[in-house]
Amino acid sequence: MSDEQMPDQAYDILIVGGGPAGLTAGLYAARASLKTLLIEGATSVSQITATDMIENYPGLSGGISGFELVERFKKQASQFGLEIISGDVTSIKRKRLGNIDGWEVTAGNNTYDTFAVIVATGTNWRKLGVPGEDDFAGRGVSYCATCDGPLYRNKEVVVIGGGEAAVQEALFLANFARKVTIVHRRDRLRAAGILQRRALAESKLDFAWNSVVEEISGKESVAGVKIRDVKSSGTLRDIPAEGVFIFIGMTPNTALIRGIADLDKNGYIVADSQMKTSADGIFACGDCTAKLLRQVITACGDGATAAFSAQLYVEALKGKSY
Ligand code: NAP
Repeated sequence: MSDEQMPDQAYDILIVGGGPAGLTAGLYAARASLKTLLIEGATSVSQITATDMIENYPGLSGGISGFELVERFKKQASQFGLEIISGDVTSIKRKRLGNIDGWEVTAGNNTYDTFAVIVATGTNWRKLGVPGEDDFAGRGVSYCATCDGPLYRNKEVVVIGGGEAAVQEALFLANFARKVTIVHRRDRLRAAGILQRRALAESKLDFAWNSVVEEISGKESVAGVKIRDVKSSGTLRDIPAEGVFIFIGMTPNTALIRGIADLDKNGYIVADSQMKTSADGIFACGDCTAKLLRQVITACGDGATAAFSAQLYVEALKGKSY
């Protein structure tokens, strides 16, 4: 296809999602001189911005807050010409662009034409689904210790879960709260060894092992949780708490792509080692994909690969392969 036939308003690559995966894809695409737009959520933020401290990103010894890291990613990608806008993407549809197949992406009242899409929509906190969880949302129930932790100075709080997020956030909450009780359904933690050691050494942390939360109770705001011991014939007991922080894993933000590209049984996007999905011209990267390890560093690696794959795809579409 010649340049004259190419719709000149179309983006080469449109990236959906402004977390580490999307921003790294944007950095690589912009440095490759591709016309690239990144749409970050207008009513949602990348989860990493709610992470108090990241201390396993290579080269940044001493750690960095998630918010600061994302700001640095944005600044760096923008310096190379990445266009970044806010908007909630509501649809991705096939569209003929000139005489080749491209995509139309809708966000709010605007539509954008593009030859390739990179989906980097991440995940959201999974809900527990117990009585009181929705009733007390914002009145004691939280999914973000970084945002809400300082509200619980000298108070008692409960953290639910035993993974990296639960343990890391419980340690953060111990900076403010008088006491933090981790309620976990097993008798040991899933989190990384270093976090486990810190948690077990933190005097403000208490553990309710082999326990599940049955109910979050209170009147105007949270007053406590009722937990059931799953080992000793289901004994119930109350733990007083003014804050309940739920970190029981994630659900992928992939509704947008359902029916377009293949998802696995848990709703994560299936992408190959080149970050290609089952749909031609749609690439995916970061936490929204089916993968073993969800970390900032792996999201960035995926993002770089997705951008390079999309670059090769767009160059081939335009008949400009090197
Ligand atoms: P996760 O690793 O999936 O852990 C979820 C925890 O919640 C598990 O301990 C699980 O119990 C428990 N759980 C799940 N459903 C539950 C239910 N219905 N009731 C009670 N407990 C329940 O999730 P995550 O900690 O949010 O981490 C998600 C991803 O982000 C991981 O890949 C993690 O590596 C990454 N992450 C990394 C960091 C870091 O590097 N510092 C920080 C945060 C997150 P079981 O153990 O019994 O399954």
